[in-house]
Amino acid sequence: MDCLFCKIMAGEIPSYKVYEDGFAFAFLDINPIAAGHTLVLPKVHVTKLAGLEGEALSGLAAALKRVVAGVESALEPEGLNIFINQGEVAGQVIAHLHVHVVPRAQGDEVCFDVPSIEMSEKEFKEISEKITTAI
Ligand code: 5GP
Ligand code: ZN
Repeated sequence: MDCLFCKIMAGEIPSYKVYEDGFAFAFLDINPIAAGHTLVLPKVHVTKLAGLEGEALSGLAAALKRVVAGVESALEPEGLNIFINQGEVAGQVIAHLHVHVVPRAQGDEVCFDVPSIEMSEKEFKEISEKITTAI
């Protein structure tokens, strides 16, 4: 598998590992947007969240919670952003699902301020019904 993150997990490429268990692996992002920026990933190679089932999914969730608790305890950030970039258009560069954990502080350089879009009552209703039906 020609995947950078699979290679990191296999130890073929070095990383600042912070956590590992049977289902998940976590290491520091090499280009952090804040000190302590950590990536948490499932051991199984999937690209999207929907690719995870059963204990692979619950294992990732449990590991994420543990890593977040560790980052909070170790670094005492004022807040955190926890997110997944899924798909190239959303900024996913590495095709191995990973959750970003980014410690935040008042006045830091991290910026997620994006303008909201206008949506009519009709559009809200249609989209919510469409998603509900799909679920
Ligand atoms: P994405 O944009 O796919 O959501 O996030 C990929 C992340 O992986 C980026 O934040 C990037 O800095 C990080 N990254 C890319 N290559 C490496 C690497 O070789 N080692 C580590 N630790 N992180 C990497
Ligand atoms: Zn992979």
